[in-house]
Amino acid sequence: MASEERLLDATLTATDFDPLAAEAPPARARAVVIGGGIIGASVAYHLARLGWTDTVVLERSRVSSGTSWHAAGLMTRTRGTHMQTELASYSRDFYRDLAALSGVDIGYYPNGSLSVARTSERLTELRYALTLAHHHGLPAGELTPDEIAAVSPILASRDLVGGVLFEEDATVNPGWSAYATARAAHYLGVRVVEGVRVTGFRLERGPGDGVRRVTAVETDRGAVECEVAVITTGLWSRDLGLLAGARLALHPAEHYWAQTEPVDGATRDLPIVRDLDGSIYVRHYRGGLLVGAFEPDGRPRATSAIPDDFSFGQFEPDLEHFGRPLARARERVPALAEARFKHYLCAPESFTPDGNFLLGETAETAGLFVAAGMNSQGIILGPGVGRALAEWIEQGAPTVDASEVDVRRFSPAQANAGYLFERTRESLGRLYAMHWPLQQPGTARGLRRVPLYDRLAAAGAVFGEAAGWERAMWYAPPGAAREHEYSYGRQNWFGAVAAEHRAAREAVALFDLSSFAKLQVEGPTALHAVQRVFTADLDRPPGAVVYTSMLNALGGVELDATVTRLREDAFLVVTSAAAQTRAFHWLRRHTGPDSVVTDVTSGLGVLSVTGPRSRDLLAGLTDADLSDAAFPFAHARELDVGWATALALRISFAGELGWELYVPVESLPVLYDQLAAAGAEHGLRHAGYHALDGLRAEKGFVHWGADAGPADTPEEAGLGSTVAHDKVGGFVGSAALLAAGPPRRRLVPILLADPEPLLYHGETVLQDGRLVGRVTSGAYGHTLGAAVGLAAIGREPAAVDEIVARGAVEVEIASRRFPATLSARPFYDPDGRRLRGS
Ligand SMILES: Cc1cc2nc3c(=O)[nH]c(=O)nc-3n(C[C@H](O)[C@H](O)[C@H](O)COP(=O)(O)OP(=O)(O)OC[C@H]3O[C@@H](n4cnc5c(N)ncnc54)[C@H](O)[C@@H]3O)c2cc1C
Repeated sequence: MASEERLLDATLTATDFDPLAAEAPPARARAVVIGGGIIGASVAYHLARLGWTDTVVLERSRVSSGTSWHAAGLMTRTRGTHMQTELASYSRDFYRDLAALSGVDIGYYPNGSLSVARTSERLTELRYALTLAHHHGLPAGELTPDEIAAVSPILASRDLVGGVLFEEDATVNPGWSAYATARAAHYLGVRVVEGVRVTGFRLERGPGDGVRRVTAVETDRGAVECEVAVITTGLWSRDLGLLAGARLALHPAEHYWAQTEPVDGATRDLPIVRDLDGSIYVRHYRGGLLVGAFEPDGRPRATSAIPDDFSFGQFEPDLEHFGRPLARARERVPALAEARFKHYLCAPESFTPDGNFLLGETAETAGLFVAAGMNSQGIILGPGVGRALAEWIEQGAPTVDASEVDVRRFSPAQANAGYLFERTRESLGRLYAMHWPLQQPGTARGLRRVPLYDRLAAAGAVFGEAAGWERAMWYAPPGAAREHEYSYGRQNWFGAVAAEHRAAREAVALFDLSSFAKLQVEGPTALHAVQRVFTADLDRPPGAVVYTSMLNALGGVELDATVTRLREDAFLVVTSAAAQTRAFHWLRRHTGPDSVVTDVTSGLGVLSVTGPRSRDLLAGLTDADLSDAAFPFAHARELDVGWATALALRISFAGELGWELYVPVESLPVLYDQLAAAGAEHGLRHAGYHALDGLRAEKGFVHWGADAGPADTPEEAGLGSTVAHDKVGGFVGSAALLAAGPPRRRLVPILLADPEPLLYHGETVLQDGRLVGRVTSGAYGHTLGAAVGLAAIGREPAAVDEIVARGAVEVEIASRRFPATLSARPFYDPDGRRLRGS
């Protein structure tokens, strides 16, 4: 079949594909990949490339028959983050070469893509993408409305403010791409077995470590024993995960496109058009056009409402629903007004609560991996995702900066079907909606409320979501609107956050940190267990508080945590809210059967009082001696604070004098009320997570997940000081650290010279016009008077120290460059005197 005819075809069926193999499933395989869509095919192919040729793909129907066959085939290199841009970019090259690998024509055509802006804010968003594209060496450029008209004459461009042309984007036939990838895997030795439905898993606890592992996959044609099972069953993945005790947060929604009969001017060279403000895209299709929608009012559809034998399936389209985005498409492409539509497609795709896919080993079950929930980007990302997961399986740890997509980032509560259904109303449209910095989801809020939620709300809190928790982001002053007004400039919370920030630096601020993940490790072998899991030497007297990290098999930073020795045989591990799932299961897996790991998150509330007057405030509520001598930095004591008995930790993420007070949740209200009442005379102010972020950015404290992740060694992530290299017996990851070469990058503080622009993450850092790194996290430093953050410097390791020593750099933000300074030490209180005291 010639390439042109292999373009999308809504009549594609099982009989179009030659069977890859007609065998029965084997009794054993090293890896079993479940699901033969683009993702399963890609995982299998890349596993085989790494030598895992004893891999079998089990597909209940035919390869490509789920969601992959009817995608619109848009292929783009630039995504919203560096990691996903790298995966998509690899994918694009993979498709370019796929015909040669598989012998199958996939209709690959490099026609480029054009994203257009109806508003200046959208143009700013596109300029962020442009900076990202250039960071990765991808040819892309901004166009004026006139230039847009010249590149794509079918477009109405007079109402546009501009656009960006991504030159190397392409279109492919998605169904044939999935099939071709499976075929390429088959040529490498992978067995692809169609017509086999996976019905369950065999799970066993390891005799030595008590860890639950998958040992076989059950099917309707017998069991297949395996070392590793991979769930790549698209929208069915949540249901399948539950069979293995893994809670996967994804949910299907309906998704639409329509094809026209031939239209004048609809040539194959027309770039794909994304009219993001119109929630639509348009691409060529056999002399006509294909129009697809990412409408803001998406329609979730539970798997129970999808037939069990759904294969090359479609739903009855609701033309009234699709009619709204179609009307926007007609505004953009006037020829559509006259065009005859030959097919309307409504079909399912799966979405996650934060719009990122799920990747990695499930927290609950060892050996059970997942790559699913592609949020309508499975074709764009499929080859890259398959490679990343295959490397993860092979090496035992991620080789890419996977924190933003790691399956363990969600709380089990977020796999709740009702919550997912509600969130999915917005998830589809989110792909094309504005991606404001610090944006909060608008649906399915209130899943997990901090115990003081009502009191904080009464104090003016404006809430944001993290791992399902509702947490105070900032406090609106009396009379101010309690809502986030998003902007690429200063947002409506800027002034309020500045006041919260000042309170922490000059008086005292009160933060509710109750969403922290809190885990207790106890038992006669507890010391041995935490010594094995964490990098620092934790053999300290009870009351010692140690900031440390956990490493994976490759020596990458799995997590950072604060560990307090409560007693000889008990430790409290505290880490971020988003790390609760991964921390709990990681500890369970690595501490051995003789230590008990208990998740005490829900039982303990946390209030942080921090700032130079925090001691005076607490002194009025306790008889305890809080002096530096009696209660030094990084120590914990039990204190009576008002009527509450708290475990007090002398630490502060704001970098000031301060205490974190841990109390049973039933004591939290009285502690809060008494602190708030006593605080008035000390200038106490409620403060939220935006202020905390600015405070910690000024101090250069690492934000795990942004500045540090599983693909960085502690040295690269600025956490070198948390590692006791000489610890007797070593620790998980210590051998890999020893074997690691010199750091590939260095994390250093960065400060803009101009007080206006803002930093978030991902911005490009240049020296003498040469790219030297990127900002990993940034916030506004209200004490320093400019945006401040951390930057990973070092494309050429040898030059890193020199670059940092020179200090003067530029930061490219949304295509504009601003002078900035790098520093080897934090810009605020570099010696830590305010934090530690004299
Ligand atoms: C209208 C529409 C347009 C889209 N356009 C684009 C686009 O232009 N670009 C893009 O990147 N993405 C697009 N997408 C999204 C893309 O199609 C998906 O992200 C991608 O196909 C997902 O691939 P997958 O392998 O995860 O899932 P699937 O293709 O659904 O594969 C999963 C497979 O698992 C099998 N399976 C399920 N349960 C079992 C079981 N128990 N045992 C064995 N096998 C099982 C199924 O039969 C299925 O074949 C679009 C989606 C839709 C609906």
